[in-house]
This record gives sequence, structure tokens and C-alpha cells, in this order.
Amino acid sequence: MEYPRSRILKIYDILNKRYPDPRTLLHFRNPFELLISVILSAQTTDRQVNEVTPGLFEAYPDAASLSRAEQESVENLVRSTGFYRQKAKNIIATARQLEDVHGGAVPAGMDELTRLPGVGRKSANVVLGHIYNRPAVIVDTHFSRVVRRLGLTQAEQPEKIEKEIALLLAPEFHTRFSMVINYHGRDLCLARRPKCGECPLNTLCPWYSEKPAVVLRE
Ligand code: SF4
Repeated sequence: MEYPRSRILKIYDILNKRYPDPRTLLHFRNPFELLISVILSAQTTDRQVNEVTPGLFEAYPDAASLSRAEQESVENLVRSTGFYRQKAKNIIATARQLEDVHGGAVPAGMDELTRLPGVGRKSANVVLGHIYNRPAVIVDTHFSRVVRRLGLTQAEQPEKIEKEIALLLAPEFHTRFSMVINYHGRDLCLARRPKCGECPLNTLCPWYSEKPAVVLRE
């Protein structure tokens, strides 16, 4: 099996053809909506988030209005996404910080973004990659599982995975690579029963060629 650096571009090319339009599945119309949607997406599905955000953004269309919202009102709007008390608290506090520190806008830096309540590196990278076209390795559970199976990293900590993958690829490919790997994790490289037989990467995948007896979970 070739080294990760020589396989990763082949993997990228194959997945790019398979997933030609790998946009985030979250619905948004502006940076504020993407930022709030990403915070709400913790521990739930994008579909669940997309179900609540039309109502949320109708009531609170921007940072100014959300910063003044009552906690209970926001809780009711985001309840079905789970952890709704903490999420409501985080998005109101984030909106206040946007208003107080950033003039109501979503900042374009990793440090500023990760200072917002409820925003970790993964969420910040989603915003940086999709809104600001910055190189962003977006490490979620799908991404972690797939890149580890593909032998592109052995790391387990998201931040270490992010750094190791970033070193293997030119920056201009980071965001799109993240998205095609994410799509592949939802499509074929599933957590419990990956569809290796129909996977276009199986000749490049050490996990498949070694045929492990135990399925690697997320
Ligand atoms: S061959 Fe199997 S384990 Fe490897 S990337 Fe494809 S689906 Fe995932």
C-alpha cells in the first residue's frame, strides 16, 4: 500500500467525481444563519436542524434580534434538536458576542470564532470553509472514521486529525476534501456496515485490504 501522501490525491480525485457538489447539508442564507445552524447541529442531524431553523430565523433573523431574545422562547424553537437549553443559551450568548465585539457580523478568524459560546474548531472550520473560502479541514465523526480507515492518519483526537490531514494536502483542497470525505462517510463508508464491495476506494484502502475482524466504530 502506498504512503498516505501519494494515496490522498487519488482518493480526492475519485471522491470528487462521485460527489461533484459536496455542499454542507445545512440550509442557510447568510453567515449568521450558518453559524447558528452549526451550533445547533451538535449531537443531532443536519435534517433536524433544517427543520427548526426556518422558524428560528423568522423570529430572530439576525444577531441583533437573537441577542435580545428570551431564553424560553428560543428553547421552544430549538427543542427538537436536543440539548435545547444549552443550545438556546449558546446561540443567544453568541449573538450577544457578535453584537458586542464584531459589530453584528460573523468573524473570519479561527480564534475569534472559537471564542463564541458553543463554537469548537469543527464548527469554526465549517464557517471558514463555506463562508470565507479559507482552507478548512472539518473533522466530524464521519470524517474521523473514514480518514482513519483509509490509513491517512492514526490519530484519534480531532485536533490532531485536522493537523495531520492538513499536512498531507495543499490548502486549496482542504475544504472540498473534508466535504467529499464527509459525503462518503454518509454514503458508503458507514459506521457499522461499510459498503466496501461497492466502494471506489477499496483498492486504496488498508482497512478493506486487511479485512479486520472487528468493525471500527465511530
Ligand atoms: S473500502 Fe470500505 S472502509 Fe475503505 S473507504 Fe471504502 S467503504 Fe470505507
